[in-house]
Amino acid sequence: MGSIRILPDQLVNQIAAGEVIERPASVVKELMENALDAGATQITVEIVKGGTEKIVVTDDGHGMDEMDARLAFERHATSKIGGLDDLNRIKTLGFRGEALASIASVSEVFLQTKTKQSLGGVRLEMTGGKEPIVASTGCSVGTKIDVSNLFFNTPARKKYLKSEATEYRHVLDTVQDLALAHPEVGFRFVSNGRPAFDLLKTDKLQARVGGLFGKSVSEEMVDVFYGGRDLQISGWIGKPHTARATRKYQYFVINGRPIQDNRLGYAVKEAFSNLIPGSQYPIFVLNVTVDPTQVDVNVHPRKLEVRFAQPNEIFRVMKASVAAALARELQSSMTPNVSLQDKNLEMPAFLRKESIRSMEREKIEVEESGGDYDPSVAMAPPLNFFGGASGAATPSVFDETSYSASSNAMDARKAYLLQKRAERMATQGMDSPPSLPASGPVSSIFGSPSASFSMPTPPTVAEVTQSYMEDRPTGSLRALAQVKNSYIVAQDDDGIVIIDQHAAHERVMLGKFRANEAEREPARQSLLAPHQLNLDYREKAILEENLDLLRSLGFDISEFGGSTYSIDSVPDFLVDDDILDVIKGFLDDLLNDQSPREAARRHEHILHTLACRAAAKFGRRLSTYEQESLIKSLLETEGSSACAHGRPTMIRLSFNELEQKFGRRG
Ligand code: ADP
Ligand code: MG
Repeated sequence: MGSIRILPDQLVNQIAAGEVIERPASVVKELMENALDAGATQITVEIVKGGTEKIVVTDDGHGMDEMDARLAFERHATSKIGGLDDLNRIKTLGFRGEALASIASVSEVFLQTKTKQSLGGVRLEMTGGKEPIVASTGCSVGTKIDVSNLFFNTPARKKYLKSEATEYRHVLDTVQDLALAHPEVGFRFVSNGRPAFDLLKTDKLQARVGGLFGKSVSEEMVDVFYGGRDLQISGWIGKPHTARATRKYQYFVINGRPIQDNRLGYAVKEAFSNLIPGSQYPIFVLNVTVDPTQVDVNVHPRKLEVRFAQPNEIFRVMKASVAAALARELQSSMTPNVSLQDKNLEMPAFLRKESIRSMEREKIEVEESGGDYDPSVAMAPPLNFFGGASGAATPSVFDETSYSASSNAMDARKAYLLQKRAERMATQGMDSPPSLPASGPVSSIFGSPSASFSMPTPPTVAEVTQSYMEDRPTGSLRALAQVKNSYIVAQDDDGIVIIDQHAAHERVMLGKFRANEAEREPARQSLLAPHQLNLDYREKAILEENLDLLRSLGFDISEFGGSTYSIDSVPDFLVDDDILDVIKGFLDDLLNDQSPREAARRHEHILHTLACRAAAKFGRRLSTYEQESLIKSLLETEGSSACAHGRPTMIRLSFNELEQKFGRRG
């Protein structure tokens, strides 16, 4: 019927651009790769409005002569491979010869370039992939490519772009990826006329890591090395305590190419085995060098993934090398005869977490066997954990004992508190606190203290609990027990209710955040000692995006200079101690996620994320009082039967159902 026809080149390029050029960050990636392939030692990336308006990449590489400059924009024009043989052993980052043609077909391009040999340079202007205007110009050796108005002629694609802030973060990711893969090259990154960073070229990967993520990160890393004949691995892994709630700090570089590889990531995580919790991910930058014939780089249009000829071998060696590096670190940081009770604070940060956790386990065992009695716990005003009336600065029962992934300072504080407790336990004896007659056994802090024991005001937890129980309207929920440190079993007149403590607390927090937001002046408490937040470029970008929202919830966070922010006040229902954890975890979550584009849904999503972080962890031990007050807050919260994520917060088993199940009824 004669309906098949060959498409014009320009259209073909636009279609190809759909695969290769997804967003401004893809343009930046292709241009930077070209600069690296041209042997640049210094690359500058400038963007305007997240790259949606303009992207300029300048390099000091070998440049192009006029012929090459014209050819470079033709489809399948490349200087990097000549035949199939070359495709099988690619050493350059580019090889498909379609990036420039694709970019030029959907934008306005301006190129300026000069080789060492030629006297003058050449300039070339091109709009939407049409015939270029070429002229000679004076310029230095190297290449500068300026891409404006991306997707101006493909409105459907332009609509697909996200906010300027989001596109900025994608570009930042791209620049960081390549900067980590090539510390031997200097990178300067400028956004909206403001320099973001200027990384000097270096022969030390660790220095590059420090330049991007801060010294506090790079100094807490251990080097990994494996020098096989056909396979080499080198790089840095973060010590276990630096693990994050996001995979975004995991960098693999295969033959100079940053790639994503979940299986390799899994191999590294396995090497850490139980040194980090399941929900956390180690941070690392790991270079893998293999013979180019052993890896297929041509499996992804944007070259984000590769395929190994012998993947299992690489995974095995990766896991072993990382495990060996960790073992080395463990050995060198361990001093002989360390006793947890007197050396806790001097222990290397690397080991501290573990020791806290094992001490906690011990402590819980002691408590469960009914031994530990700690007057300071009993005297602590109990309401503050769930945001009640008492002074928020007073540590609650949890703050002393909870394990959570936090900054070193907090670890040190927690380690200190645990140490104090250990000392107390050691000097007082665990069975009978000295303030009690030896004959008066105390089964638990909620048990009835013996008659000779009288506590001064404020009242004990037991007393407060008692009066709360008495005040409670009949028919409402009563906590019976906590199971697996995760569920509260409760009872009311109709049956048994099982509550998911994290989901419930999350729901309560969401309610409180919403209430705060609805106020013109959200209820906040200023912190006497503001917390300092040290952020890298990416975290900083996310925080900046959400500062207004956080402010409307009661957080006052101000720039302290450089990459440091100061948290000056927080919503009054949050416990001071957990703030850094909450904010850092919140930033990690936002780094991970694909949050909705539409403003209202995005807003909701962010509130939920924050509520989740602010909620008590699954797996935390709650006192009876805390169980009760959680239930109380939950019942006061609107729509309380589902958590912030829409999962149920409680399951009910009515006495009717029970009777039926046990065959007491027909
Ligand atoms: P590829 O990188 O896959 O070869 P591109 O479309 O990205 O395809 O580039 C086409 C060609 O243009 C490259 O092969 C290279 O010869 C030349 N080129 C592109 N950018 C530069 C640059 N910054 N410096 C020198 N040559 C370049
Ligand atoms: Mg290229």
